[in-house]
Amino acid sequence: MRFKPEKLSIPDQRMKPFIDPDEIWRFINNTKPDKQRVRDVIARSLDKNRLTMEETAVLVNSMGTDLEDEIRHGAKELKEKVYGNRIVLFAPLYVGNKCTNNCQYCGFRISNKEAVRKTLTDDEIVREVEALEDNGQKRLILVYGEHPEYSPEYIAHTVRLVYNIKKDHGEIRRVNINAAPLDIEGFRTVGEAGIGTYQVFQETYHPEAYKWYHLGGKKKDYEWRLTALDRAQEAGIDDVGIGALFGLYDWRFEVLALVRHTNHLEACYNVGPHTISFPRIKDALSLNIDGRYQVSDDDFKKLVPILRLAVPYTGMILTARETPDVRREVLQYGVSQIDGGTKLELGSYSDSRNEEQNLNREQFKINDSRSLSEVIDELLENDYIPSFCTSCYRMGRTGEHFMEFSVPGFIKRFCTPNAILTLSEYICDYATEPVAEKGWKVIEKNLKTLDESVEKSTREKIERIKNGERDLYF
Ligand code: SAM
Ligand code: SF4
Repeated sequence: MRFKPEKLSIPDQRMKPFIDPDEIWRFINNTKPDKQRVRDVIARSLDKNRLTMEETAVLVNSMGTDLEDEIRHGAKELKEKVYGNRIVLFAPLYVGNKCTNNCQYCGFRISNKEAVRKTLTDDEIVREVEALEDNGQKRLILVYGEHPEYSPEYIAHTVRLVYNIKKDHGEIRRVNINAAPLDIEGFRTVGEAGIGTYQVFQETYHPEAYKWYHLGGKKKDYEWRLTALDRAQEAGIDDVGIGALFGLYDWRFEVLALVRHTNHLEACYNVGPHTISFPRIKDALSLNIDGRYQVSDDDFKKLVPILRLAVPYTGMILTARETPDVRREVLQYGVSQIDGGTKLELGSYSDSRNEEQNLNREQFKINDSRSLSEVIDELLENDYIPSFCTSCYRMGRTGEHFMEFSVPGFIKRFCTPNAILTLSEYICDYATEPVAEKGWKVIEKNLKTLDESVEKSTREKIERIKNGERDLYF
């Protein structure tokens, strides 16, 4: 049965809460999986439409039926058809774990007395970033607890600091942020430092459930967090990342709520989120939640393809919270960015003793501790092109995922050649011999898929990279 149509033509109100839990549950409880309907919904997504909440509910309710494989297949097809085989790589850098909030799932929360508190000094940030550059990283996400020390001015300072750290051929070309919600002025201050994406995860979109987990500090305020990215937009940051922490409430609810958040941003600001994150709760020091809503691997492998189809124009981020096996599998369903060589213990990129000593400064345990080189090796093995591309952001082409998705020929003209060029740089500067060998093979294979003139100019640029030039892009 089709439920009442969403009022997408009526613009949402800016900076007003937009989640109606009853509405979301009505969609979940009243939408039946019907073979033809599911196929129509998949076809709409493949036809490059963002799905409505009702259509998303159709997919959600088809999981566990014999239609499940068709949904996965659809997500795979969308990824292959629209995005191709590039995977963008990044690393998180935890700047400080001081926090005034009391989120029951997080090792940084104020009530966790076992946690050792630390903010990296500027010198330590320099050492960490140099170590990341030595591994070949070009894109970072800086992560902070919520604390008066991490003011917008401080965050902006760390962003500028990171951009200025260069070692040999190493440099960070895009700095994203995962930090607490700011007011409009604060977002403006951070935006002026030249950030890429500002991420804020709602954790759970269910207002009641939100109360169970957020017991103190500013983060208690559900609506302040829900409207955070509206304020970012008002401040001129149009590149924002949304997310839910899966395991706090029913995963089906969160999936529909992410779609609702998307259509809210589209309606108010004419631009949807740049990325969607879907972290699952992982072991943290003194984790204090029951497992009622825990998302199994099986459910996780359902929600990823649904999200891919529901919001086909966004980047999807998958982190080292997940095991290599899970990562390998869900990568096919449309993930566009993963981290590699991740270390969460503060200061451990430059000094492995910080990791080995287990100083209780990390937020949670990761499940994929492979080095960047190992991650790249596996991507190449599976015919992906690992990419460090930052071209759109640097050319002022914001919203690159949207452009990849909507501009015909964009990927072949820009994304694939730029992925190839950043991989060539990586090979020349950082790769081991076996990785280099695999890398050049993948490059050669993909060069042949380009139009003649683009192939020619990409080959010319590769030669210039081999001769020592860097940062060449289209
Ligand atoms: N303090 C800021 C905040 O809360 O938004 C930003 C950084 S917080 C360190 C980044 C994200 O980590 C949170 O939004 C949450 O989704 C995630 N996280 C917290 N505890 C986690 C856990 N135990 N397992 C997996 N992810 C977790
Ligand atoms: Fe602090 Fe963020 Fe952890 Fe909550 S999730 S305790 S706000 S660092």
